[in-house]
Amino acid sequence: MKKTILAAALAAMMSVPAFAADSADIVVIGSGGAGLSSAITATEKGAKVIVLEKMAFIGGNSNRSEGGMNAAGTKQQLADGVKDDSPDIFFMDTMRGGHYLNNPQLLHTLTTQAAGAEEWLLSLGANFCHRMGRGGGQTRARGHGPCDGSPVGIELMRVLSERADKDHIDIRVNNRVTEILTKGGKVSGVKVKTAKGVETINAKAVVLATGGFGANHKMVEKYRPELKGFSTTNQPGATGDGIVLAQKLGASLTDIEQIQIHPTVIKKNGALISESMRARGGILLNKNGKRFTNELLTRDVVSQNELKQPDGIGFLIVDDSIYKKNKMLRSYVSEKLMTKCDSVEDVAKLIGADPKVVKASFEQYWKAFDSKKDDLFGRPEMVIRLDQAPYYVAQVTPGIHHTMGGVTINPKAEVISKKTEKPIPGLFAAGEVTGGVHGGNRIGGNAVADIVTFGRISGQSAAAYVGK
Ligand code: ADP
Repeated sequence: MKKTILAAALAAMMSVPAFAADSADIVVIGSGGAGLSSAITATEKGAKVIVLEKMAFIGGNSNRSEGGMNAAGTKQQLADGVKDDSPDIFFMDTMRGGHYLNNPQLLHTLTTQAAGAEEWLLSLGANFCHRMGRGGGQTRARGHGPCDGSPVGIELMRVLSERADKDHIDIRVNNRVTEILTKGGKVSGVKVKTAKGVETINAKAVVLATGGFGANHKMVEKYRPELKGFSTTNQPGATGDGIVLAQKLGASLTDIEQIQIHPTVIKKNGALISESMRARGGILLNKNGKRFTNELLTRDVVSQNELKQPDGIGFLIVDDSIYKKNKMLRSYVSEKLMTKCDSVEDVAKLIGADPKVVKASFEQYWKAFDSKKDDLFGRPEMVIRLDQAPYYVAQVTPGIHHTMGGVTINPKAEVISKKTEKPIPGLFAAGEVTGGVHGGNRIGGNAVADIVTFGRISGQSAAAYVGK
């Protein structure tokens, strides 16, 4: 008895489960939202799954996801009176936001299945509500997330990891996959670097769920030299390993040079201030105290508008009416990412701008709210008047956020070979490692929709491939 406990404790210390198997039906590489959605779905179908995660903890960038999960036609939207949304409108908003570069089949899959993916999360116990306020580039309010306004990623990873635990899914942290093995043109397993050395795990199928490459500055610069020196909102493990692993197997890449910069990032530490702060009513001023954009345009356009301002910076301003209701905003303030200002004059002082100019900017916005018409920039929705002091202000600048490009997949999440243009037998992919879903710019709230929707599809497809 004692020996067993000791062995288990030692194994846990080595980050390898006791009695670790060296074979599985399916190996999932990466433990973010896509990886765990895939692993849970494949396990439900009866497949034996091992999840390999290179970092010391699970969750990747999914842990950092703040805004929400987009889905159209949900029961929660209906309950909030949003009765005129549909997968078709969701599709058109995303196409427009992605500059029509999106793969229509993949996007159709996303927009028709996101509501089902959200229901699935609810069935796993996610404490999600519909969120009022439109994100950039959207014509309907279709974000969903924790009811108290806290970040979506933490709740997402809570329910997925609890379910994975319940299903006894073998998740191994500190396990970095260095190679995908093949036999006779089919995937046959992986090589993985652990504390003990390099091991081989045999598997009939592999799901790539390794996320993007937003933390790999060399790779970002290779595809987009002008992004040299930009800070990143990404976790350090977002280095594009999956793209390199898949390329070695001859995978095709889609839109690899499409990299999103997000306009509200704190330069010194890469901390992200969620787009939902603007959706809920926040505005942006430049250092002269003037508004410079419709704050609800897509992230790429708002970023470009911001870069044209003095020093390429903006000041995001929200008020107490948001603060009172939104846990995420309260955490920005307690983490000193946003500063409390007791009055419009104090906002001007913080910005270093002429108080008269700042006052005039607020008055223009109040007028726009009252008349429901923003003459200056044509902002389509103003959910609050923004006149409830104290105000909360953050100095922001664009930072690297999402890599839209990646390995080419079809709607079954099968990875496509560059040479044959057919699926590579046994190789599947989901989430930020893939390209094509988001086109030239990702709409806020579509990443979580993507990783859960395609995570589930990849799990189903891989399970079917291995005969489950
Ligand atoms: P997604 O949103 O697509 O699910 P995430 O960034 O949330 O992507 O998760 C991807 C995970 O994959 C991260 O936790 C990352 O550390 C992990 N990962 C990346 N490369 C490897 C690798 N070579 N081996 C194992 N895990 C990896």
